[in-house]
Amino acid sequence: MSQYDVAIIGSGPGGYVAAIRCAQLGMKTAIIEKYSTLGGTCLNVGCIPSKALLSSSHHYEEATKHFEDHGIEIPGEVKVNLEKMIARKQSVVDQTTGGIDFLMKKNKIDVYQGVGSFKDATHITIKGEKEEEIEAKNTIIATGSKPSSLPFINIDKERIITSTEALKLKEVPKHLIIIGGGVIGLELGQVYKRLGAEVTVVEYMDRILPTMDAGLSKELNKVFKKAKCNMMVSHKVQSVERNGDEVVVKAENKKGEVVEFKGDYCLVSVGRRPYTDGLNAEAAGVKLNDRGQVEVNEHLQTSASNIYAIGDVIKGAMLAHKAEEEGVFVAETLAGQKPHIDYNLIPGVVYTWPEVAAVGKTEEELKEAGTKYKVGQFPFRALGRARASGDIDGFVKILADETTDEVLGVHMIGARCADLIAEAVTAMEFRASAEDISRMSHAHPTFAEAVKEAALAATEDRALHV
Ligand code: FAD
Ligand code: NAD
Repeated sequence: MSQYDVAIIGSGPGGYVAAIRCAQLGMKTAIIEKYSTLGGTCLNVGCIPSKALLSSSHHYEEATKHFEDHGIEIPGEVKVNLEKMIARKQSVVDQTTGGIDFLMKKNKIDVYQGVGSFKDATHITIKGEKEEEIEAKNTIIATGSKPSSLPFINIDKERIITSTEALKLKEVPKHLIIIGGGVIGLELGQVYKRLGAEVTVVEYMDRILPTMDAGLSKELNKVFKKAKCNMMVSHKVQSVERNGDEVVVKAENKKGEVVEFKGDYCLVSVGRRPYTDGLNAEAAGVKLNDRGQVEVNEHLQTSASNIYAIGDVIKGAMLAHKAEEEGVFVAETLAGQKPHIDYNLIPGVVYTWPEVAAVGKTEEELKEAGTKYKVGQFPFRALGRARASGDIDGFVKILADETTDEVLGVHMIGARCADLIAEAVTAMEFRASAEDISRMSHAHPTFAEAVKEAALAATEDRALHV
C-alpha cells in the first residue's frame, strides 16, 4: 500500500493548489479526483468555461452593436455559430486542465482517478477503474460543491438546467428564464442575451447581487434593463413545470399575486451546496454541520486532528481564489509555518460587462456596525480612457473611515474592474488611507485613474475631473 505525508481529495483550485504547495514544501503528496480531468468545478464547468463564453459573446456584441461607432463596417450579416463557440470553450478548458496534469507531474504528485472514501482517519479507498487503498498521515478534503435547487424543481438537464448544462447548450434559447439573480444567473444570462435570447431574471430578494454593495446592484440592474432583460426582483418562485419544449415558471410578487413566465429553457441558479457524497466522512471522525459543510476550526482542521478541509466544502465565500488561499494555508500549516488569511480581503468579482468587483465592507455592513465612514465616488464616463474605448458605464466607490481615513471597502462597476480591484486589495492589505491611494501616480489615460479620483473624492472631496 502506498504511503503519503498528505493525500488530497478533490482536484479543484483548492485541492490542486494545496497539492503543489505541499510538494514544494517537501511532502510526499497524492491527489484523488473522481473525474478523468483535473481542475474541479472551476476549470471544467465553472470559472474558465463561463469566462470563455462571456468573452466570445462579448466579441459578438461588439461586432453587432459597437463596431459601427468605431467606423468599422462589416459587409453582410454577423452570425453566431454556437457549436463552434462551445467547441472553442471546450478547447480552452482542455488546455487549462491539461496544464494541471503537467503541474502534477512537474511537482511529482501522484494522481489517483476514482472516488476517494475514508476507511478510517489514515486510510482512503479509491474506487475508480480498479479499487486501491492508500495510507496518508494527513488528508485535505477539497471536494467542493454542486448546484443546489429548490425542493419543488425537477432539474431534467434538458430544459430545466443548471450552469453545467447552460455551458454546453446546442441552441440559443428563445426565452431563457433564470431563477436567481446572483453571479451565475447574471453572467450566463448576459451570455445568452448577447447571443439573441430573451432573458428574464426572477430574483427572490429586492435586488440582484443581494450580498454586494447596493450601489453595484442598482447600476448593474440598470445595464441589464437597458439591454432589455426582464428583471423581476422581489419574486418568490413557487413552481417550475415543463410541458414538452415549454417551461412555465410561477412566482409570487410583493403584492401576493402569482405571475407566470413562459420560456423554452429555465436556468436554476439559486446557489451551490457543499459536496461530500461518497466521502464516508463519519468513518474518519469528520463532522459536518447542519448545512452539510465540513466543520473546521481556525486552522481549517476538522474534528479529526489530522484531517483538514478547504474551499467550497467549508464555510465562507464559494470562490476559486478563496479555495486556493486555503490550500496554501493548510499546506504551510502542515509544514509547521504560521500562515494567515484575511477573509475580509478576498475580492468578489462578477464578470459581466461592465464588470463588478468589490473588496472589504459594503455601505450596508458599515451602517449595521455603526462605523462612521466617508464615501468617495467617481464615474468612469468622466475619464478620457473610458470615452476613447466607449466603455463609460459605472463608477468606483471608496469607503474610508471618517476619522482615520483608512480604506474600509472598495466597490466598483465598469470596464476592467475585475483587474482594477487588485489595487484596492493591495492598498487594504497594507492598511492604506484614501489619501495614500490619491497621492500615488496612476498612468494616464487608464481606467485605474478612476480609483485615484475616487480616493481623492473620499479624502477631501477634491476629485480633479468632475
Ligand atoms: P471544486 O472546484 O468544486 O472541486 C472539487 C473536486 O473534488 C471536483 O473535481 C470533484 O469531482 C472532486 N471530488 C468530490 N468528491 C470527491 C471524492 N469523494 N473523491 C474524489 N474526488 C472528489 N469562482 C471564482 O472565483 N471566479 C469565477 O469566475 C467563478 N465562476 C464560476 C462559474 C460557474 C458557472 C460556477 C459553477 C462556479 C464559479 N466559481 C467561480 C466558483 C468556483 O468554481 C468554486 O468556488 C471553486 O471551484 C471551488 O473550488 P474547490 O477546490 O473547493 O472545489
Ligand atoms: P448566488 O448565491 O450568487 O445567487 C443565488 C441567487 O438566487 C441569490 O440572489 C438568491 O437571493 C436567489 N434565490 C435564492 N432562492 C431563490 C428563489 N426561491 N427564487 C428566486 N431567487 C432565489 O449563487 P449562484 O449564482 O448560483 O452561484 C453559486 C456560487 O458560485 C456562488 O457562491 C458564487 O460565489 C460562485 N460563482 C462565482 C462566480 C464569480 O466569482 N464570478 C461566478 C459564478 C459562480
